Amino acid sequence: MIVFDDVDAWRQHRCDQTRAALTLGFVPTMGALHEGHLSLVRRSRRENDRTLVSIFVNPTQFNDPADLARYPRPLTDDLNLLRAEQVDFVLLPEETRLYTDGYRYRVSELYVSKELEGAKRPGHFDGVLTVVLKLLHIASADRMYLGEKDWQQLTLIRGMATAFFLPTAIVACPTVRASDDLALSSRNVLLDAREREKAPKFYRALTSAPSAEIARQDLRAAGFVVDYVEDRDGRRFGAVCLGRVRLIDNVPLERTE
Ligand code: AMP
Repeated sequence: MIVFDDVDAWRQHRCDQTRAALTLGFVPTMGALHEGHLSLVRRSRRENDRTLVSIFVNPTQFNDPADLARYPRPLTDDLNLLRAEQVDFVLLPEETRLYTDGYRYRVSELYVSKELEGAKRPGHFDGVLTVVLKLLHIASADRMYLGEKDWQQLTLIRGMATAFFLPTAIVACPTVRASDDLALSSRNVLLDAREREKAPKFYRALTSAPSAEIARQDLRAAGFVVDYVEDRDGRRFGAVCLGRVRLIDNVPLERTE
């Protein structure tokens, strides 16, 4: 496994690979890796000659500085996990190199990005789309692997790829859950034991309530602070806080009873 912290060294390396006609799968992450990330990595390994994983905690997508400061960064563990998965390349870009423009240039979407997560986290999707566009150009991959856990993000990145004629194919991967159905997330490690015990009620409320309104009521009764639960385009989307930890999830509506 080759670890690049120099974007330009990686780009040179990628040029050599393109000349050798090797296909590349790309998995962008913010680290604190878990089985959800690894499912993307495994799919990329199956479908491409080489796999690149990036780890970058992107400051422009955090609207809450405390959330950014708390975000887990277990880099040594992450690299060990990726080595065990036989990942070929890891990119650890520096913030100053990614944002040479000081974030003067950014990608904005005007409608979907203002709803749900975007309504609660102003500017979040500008940060996501901007960093993903940069990373897509740097990676120069054939395919990029994204999780359905972040459905709205997936929708927006797909839309950007179409709008700007980006050559990388976007591959969506199903949400990986713990045995109690809590969606795996890097933030789950921040839950204390009691919060962790309560957390699976989030998925249960999303899937079992007959309406979004009842799901909201059930979650409040169970002690969650509800940011939103809303039904859109055949899916139910939710975001809640348990203590200081914010959880998001989404499920197809046919799974609700
Ligand atoms: P993150 O490190 O949170 O930015 O996530 C990196 C990628 O992993 C994104 O495409 C996420 O949607 C995806 N991902 C995160 N959690 C899961 C999960 N539980 N199942 C599947 N994909 C996930």
